[in-house]
Amino acid sequence: MGVVRAARLVVHNDGEEPLDLTVEPWADIHEIPPKGMCVVVTHAPAGGRDWSGTSYEDEPFEVEHRPDSVTVWANGHCFHICDREGNEYYSNVSGCPAANPAT
Ligand SMILES: [Zn+2]
Repeated sequence: MGVVRAARLVVHNDGEEPLDLTVEPWADIHEIPPKGMCVVVTHAPAGGRDWSGTSYEDEPFEVEHRPDSVTVWANGHCFHICDREGNEYYSNVSGCPAANPAT
């Protein structure tokens, strides 16, 4: 069994207002409270090609910032949203190679 590759991106909301975090291409929206943070994790199968990238090859993430929102493109096969301690509180695991290591 191969090792699943994982990439982690920490997103902080240093503002005074809640920040909408959109995870693409799933278009899932999560609210980060003021002074809050979350960790976006994406997985790709071991031995596969490099991360597909959004605009360029081999980049696990791309981030687009707007005045009141931030969009993260996760270029693995899934995404998980966790806190700093690794407690997962949302995920989209259809296609996650860590959840389905045999496929
Ligand atoms: Zn996963």
